[in-house]
Amino acid sequence: MNLHEYQARGLFQAAGIPMLDGDVASTPAEAEEVARQLGGEVVVKAQVHAGGRGKAGGVKLAATPAEAAEWAEKILALTIKDLPVTKVLVVPAAAIASETYVGLIMDRESQRPVFMVSAAGGVDIEEVAATTPEKITRLAVDPRYGLLPHQAMGLAFTLYQDFKQVRAAAKIMGQLYHAFVDNGASLAEINPLVATSSGEILALDAKVVLDDNEVGRRPDLAVLRDESAEDPSEVAARRADLSFIKLHGNVGCVVNGAGLAMATMDLVKYYGGEPANFLDIGGSSNPEKVVNALRIITADRDVKAILFNIFGGITRTDDVANGIVAATKEFKVEVPIVIRLTGTNEEEAIEILEGVGMPALNDMDEAVQRVVKTAQEAA
Ligand code: GDP
Ligand code: MN
Repeated sequence: MNLHEYQARGLFQAAGIPMLDGDVASTPAEAEEVARQLGGEVVVKAQVHAGGRGKAGGVKLAATPAEAAEWAEKILALTIKDLPVTKVLVVPAAAIASETYVGLIMDRESQRPVFMVSAAGGVDIEEVAATTPEKITRLAVDPRYGLLPHQAMGLAFTLYQDFKQVRAAAKIMGQLYHAFVDNGASLAEINPLVATSSGEILALDAKVVLDDNEVGRRPDLAVLRDESAEDPSEVAARRADLSFIKLHGNVGCVVNGAGLAMATMDLVKYYGGEPANFLDIGGSSNPEKVVNALRIITADRDVKAILFNIFGGITRTDDVANGIVAATKEFKVEVPIVIRLTGTNEEEAIEILEGVGMPALNDMDEAVQRVVKTAQEAA
């Protein structure tokens, strides 16, 4: 689950990371009021689940409250990476002497939290990572001991020369590590961490992605979910208890089991198609889940054909067949459907589907080739 910057700041500030106090606003008038209360120069920042806001015109300096209102109006009208901006954060402007990058991710390869830090921080960090990766220092943390003081100092020395600044940055890394672990994050990032012209070290940006499994058992974190900032189909899927990820192809996929769903997407691509989604309807799929899945997938205008790939084990294929029939009765499915099923109760399933004129295939290769071809012809 992605957090907005203002929410991530809350977690960072609770961990003690030094940041300047600001507030969020949903209208230019509110932004002006926040700027007035802060006094002095402020920064108005778009709150969207996307990086690169600075480059997209979503981060602006304002010298007066009136200017803050003007920028807020412009930024609230922006769409950044397809995401409409509905809130801005207004914070005091810092006088920046240098920008560094401090990130922490859960790394699958080492199975540990890994720090990535770079003296070349700021809005071009992606470019740094792509072209000069040697400018990024990595350190895997052993979760049994946490970030040890000498490790934090070692990382901080790659960012600053001044010993006071090194110690300040090392302290922040320890705090970031705690914020990361205590909130079950998969990513926590400060970019930029800045040295101000008076020598202070401050975090000017905050990015956090929480592990959904952690969110599930932490009501205090679950309230941070902003469904208006998420893809509507993913919101509907979560409510229907389906594992669903929206993608950008035109072949809708309804599959039982995450592994089979991945294999199905691979095969769709292998035969020249593009999956429109990842969807795992789960082990014991009652017909209701199939109805919900079809409703979500058919709401996507890009979907030109839908593939059911069901391997009946605990899942009864006749349950799925009944779900398909129920869905087509509840609402009109205009997109062609290719069904492949095999396993538990497949004779019954085939009979149910033949009863409504929807023949099912048994072979996965054949079904995938057919759905890819159908989607291409309809596109
Ligand atoms: P991002 O582009 O989405 O990562 O947004 P950031 O919050 O990182 O802001 C982008 C850039 O705006 C930073 O790298 C800074 O260069 C600049 N910026 C942000 N806050 C301030 C500030 O308080 N003062 C100054 N002078 N620049 C700022
Ligand atoms: Mn940033």
